Amino acid sequence: MRLIDENGLRIDGRKVDELRPIRIEAGVLKRADGSAYVEWGKNKVIAAVYGPRECHPRHLQDPSKALVQCRYNMIAFSVMERKRPGPDRRSVEISKIIAEALEYVIFTEYFPRTSIDVYIEILQANAGTRCAGLTAASVALADAGVPMKDLVPAVAVGKVDNQVVLDLTKEEDNHGQADLPMAIIPRTGEVLLMQMDGHMTVEEFNKAIDLGYKACEKIYQLQKDALRRRYAVEEIETFEEAQHPQTAMEE
Ligand code: UDP
Repeated sequence: MRLIDENGLRIDGRKVDELRPIRIEAGVLKRADGSAYVEWGKNKVIAAVYGPRECHPRHLQDPSKALVQCRYNMIAFSVMERKRPGPDRRSVEISKIIAEALEYVIFTEYFPRTSIDVYIEILQANAGTRCAGLTAASVALADAGVPMKDLVPAVAVGKVDNQVVLDLTKEEDNHGQADLPMAIIPRTGEVLLMQMDGHMTVEEFNKAIDLGYKACEKIYQLQKDALRRRYAVEEIETFEEAQHPQTAMEE
């Protein structure tokens, strides 16, 4: 199966160093303390955060810091073949790596004995869902007001038809030669998450990481924009309440 044509374009028309269209919205759920929705190509992901709240079961409480718990879940109709509900090896692994990445950026020592719970639901999947999930989760945490070192943008890079490419789709993930999801802390440049499936030369690896860093910077801007838009709406609401307190109370 040919994944890159003679003009250097991929099946969906993108260049090798191009991201899929990404849309991020913060604060999309009323009941959660923080939330975010991410559309990333054909991926649709929602993240919800509760906490810091009392940690149950109590024996998991840590007197020195908050416990960061994450559940990544693909819903039954998110993939071509119905996904059997409930956790499987893959979702347990992804939940673990996302929790560990988030634990590193959250100031967990501010909230001893508590739990910060992150739920990631994949509504529609087309490769790169762990990256979209982590990207959404960090915006949801910021929306919940959880103090963090920084937001966490994530993206997958890889190798397809002997070329290094950015942001693999499902076809490229399935028929490509390597898939390398990564996440960074933009402020410090530290790598928070890196996994690799497949093979690359050192030169290709360096090129891939470089592509990933540049893309993470773009995703970081989208994350910040989403949070700014969220706060802009809040300001308008407060202003309206100030102008028409009676109407606001009746509502
Ligand atoms: N996938 C699927 N069924 C599954 C798990 C995964 O169809 O049970 C698809 C889904 O589109 C997913 C892609 O395979 O996004 C790549 O999965 P991978 O494990 O590489 O994780 P991801 O790229 O989503 O982080």
